[in-house]
Amino acid sequence: MSAAKTKQNISLNQLPPGKNIPGTAIVVDAFKYRNPDFLYFLSHFHQDHYGGITKNWSDGPIYCSQITARLLRHVLDVPEQYIKSLPQNEPVDLNAECRVTLMDANHCPGAHVLIFDVKTDESVKRYVHCGDMRYEARMKCWPSWFRDGALVDVETVFLDTTYCNPRYKFPKQDVVTAADDTPPLAQAQRRTLFVVATYTIGKEKVLHEISTACGDLCIYTSPDKKEILNLLDLPYANIFVREPRESSVHMITWGKLGEMVPGGWRFLPNWGFAQEYLDWANSLLSDDVPKFTHLAGIVPTGWTWEFQKQHGTGSLFHCTMKPGQEHLCIYEVPYSEHSNFEELREFVEFLKPARVVPTVVGKSGNAGKLAGYFRDLVDSRKSFQLGFNDLFAGEWTFNFS
Ligand SMILES: [Zn+2]
Repeated sequence: MSAAKTKQNISLNQLPPGKNIPGTAIVVDAFKYRNPDFLYFLSHFHQDHYGGITKNWSDGPIYCSQITARLLRHVLDVPEQYIKSLPQNEPVDLNAECRVTLMDANHCPGAHVLIFDVKTDESVKRYVHCGDMRYEARMKCWPSWFRDGALVDVETVFLDTTYCNPRYKFPKQDVVTAADDTPPLAQAQRRTLFVVATYTIGKEKVLHEISTACGDLCIYTSPDKKEILNLLDLPYANIFVREPRESSVHMITWGKLGEMVPGGWRFLPNWGFAQEYLDWANSLLSDDVPKFTHLAGIVPTGWTWEFQKQHGTGSLFHCTMKPGQEHLCIYEVPYSEHSNFEELREFVEFLKPARVVPTVVGKSGNAGKLAGYFRDLVDSRKSFQLGFNDLFAGEWTFNFS
């Protein structure tokens, strides 16, 4: 994000919805909006959330988790004086009025749900900012939700609404990672090179499952990416190697194998890249090593699931082969690190907040409509008191991860 795109001396009421924690100067994932009086929080290290931070950052401390702090140093070279790492699972007093607790968001490494408790004259109000989150039922057991055995009242949930539509019913993560309908893995007589699309961080669990399924196979990653993986406290970090000849499973940058069809829910493979990659991997092998005959790309995403269900074979993993050249194929795997629609509803039903503020709204989307999906689950008495004025105006981001 260039400095030219940032907005200077913004006041709190000029921020887009979902960025400011009411009654405080805290702003979450809002680094394009500058004001030295803001208290900046970064929920996790994905570009659509940290956009605006550069090595020249000087607008005050950035509060984040310990893993995210390492990434700010290593990837963005943010000056140490501006990085404030916070522990996980422990409440921390930011000042006399505000306490925050970071809880694992089951998104990428270092991603956290931020629970803010804000003192007012009469009471303490609780705000839950999800950043990006993949809800799991075990999150209901977090001790932070309870005081003296009772659920603490939540005023607002700022919800990761990336998949906030009843059409998004992709399976739970463990269903996907435990699936055994992976034909390429079973085709041992072929020399298949597996190429897995990933972001800078995120979806490492998919790689771990592949490694385990293949008998603790090591996985190739670029030296740059290996350095980043070493910062993430992954218990399985030793499966990643920097030598491509040591593995038939390679991690590659998201977007290389293809992209989503604009405006749709289908994946458009980049067969040219797939062939080039296969040729490159084979060029590294010495003459006495059998060459790879096939390439299987693996794209973990929740976006294509509904299209797959309607048009696919019923398999959990949707395979597309290059017409006429079936040594190249791409598997779309419905693995997501965002909550599906049912999980979003379950989370809101559990917390019963007074209101839900969507943090991800499509360019043509409607935040009021998204919030409406939860209207039967919020605490209507508290909602009525709060009112709904001006909740759903402003600028929105669209998260395509
Ligand atoms: Zn994210």
